Amino acid sequence: MSNHDPVVDPTSRLSRRTLAMDASGIRRAFELGATLENPINLSIGQPDFPVPDAMKSAAIDAIQEDRNGYTVTQGIPALHESIRRHLAHDLGWSRDGDGYSTVVTSGTSGGLLLASLALLDEGDEAIMPDPWFVLYPQLGHLTGATMVACDTYPDFRMTAARVEPLISDRTKFVLVNSPGNPSGVVLTDDEMRDLAALCRDRGVQLVTDEIYDEFVFADSMRPDGTCPSPARFDHQALVIRGFGKTYGCTGWRLGYAAGPTWLVEQMRKLQQFTYVCAPSPLQWGVIEAFDIDNTAQVARYAERCQLVMEALSPHVDVVRPGGAFYAFFEVPPALGMTATEFMERAVERRVLLVPGGVFSGRDTHVRLSFAVDENVLREGLAILVDLLRGG
Ligand code: PMP
Repeated sequence: MSNHDPVVDPTSRLSRRTLAMDASGIRRAFELGATLENPINLSIGQPDFPVPDAMKSAAIDAIQEDRNGYTVTQGIPALHESIRRHLAHDLGWSRDGDGYSTVVTSGTSGGLLLASLALLDEGDEAIMPDPWFVLYPQLGHLTGATMVACDTYPDFRMTAARVEPLISDRTKFVLVNSPGNPSGVVLTDDEMRDLAALCRDRGVQLVTDEIYDEFVFADSMRPDGTCPSPARFDHQALVIRGFGKTYGCTGWRLGYAAGPTWLVEQMRKLQQFTYVCAPSPLQWGVIEAFDIDNTAQVARYAERCQLVMEALSPHVDVVRPGGAFYAFFEVPPALGMTATEFMERAVERRVLLVPGGVFSGRDTHVRLSFAVDENVLREGLAILVDLLRGG
């Protein structure tokens, strides 16, 4: 740098939208984690199993065979065909695609951002759950809209009764996430039907983030083994899903959105000018993904969930997760600590958790991920139980 370079005040150069986004909570958790020698990491938001070999081979073949260029912006036709076949089986949507369209996105995050850009103007509102997935509030900063939080404590169910009072004439969409991050709570078919009816009656778009749809435990599944979804009751709903969690390939950055053509067409247009297309060889990698049976993995996660419940429920308020791989428990008020303080105490004992303030307007709960080996999980739970007993 030359001596003549002017001193730059970054805040005067950066956009208000960027400055409004606060990543300090997550950053602090990461930074504390990085100081640990041999952490018991119960903060991880991705599965701990390898990508199925068939998917690895398909992606490697695509790279070797020089299928590395751009694809059409909406994604390769063969993958659309797989998605349609899957949605016909899973949601009862028409396989020929009458009335709905699909777009392959750069992760579920890509789908959520494109949907928000397509639907929200400055001054608009969208309703999201509290607790939320970390991207949701940022969708407001990115679009200039207001994300209105729907308080779902203490059972973490985003029901129609809780959503209805929040709908105003500015509301453009209701965003539901089941199985939920950070709570693992799965809404029932009846709750989904009511939410769909509410949105239809009030003329607001329903957007459903179903990234954990393949991680549903037996007691929260529908009788046919599928995950409850509002899209079964509202064929105008926008379904946003991902491949990353289901198949252990979060770094492949692949997801898809399916919904009304008028909306998905605009998302495709926005993708054309932003992400351009989802990673192309990896699109080939997931064509056969829906045929892969992951029931053994889900059963293993259900057993880990049981370990968590048995260890924690005598000591804390914890809602039994019906899916995903998280439990969100309350720091006992008797301990007189915020969730961040509890997280810091846990770090002193080598256990990494994420404090609820990262996902919520409240800092009263912590998220524990059970996407870890059972022995690590047992060791971590024993330490947590000791802390919860005031140790
Ligand atoms: N939605 C939820 C509820 C999530 O938990 C996550 C990832 N943790 C995402 C979306 C984003 O997923 P992706 O990596 O596919 O962008």
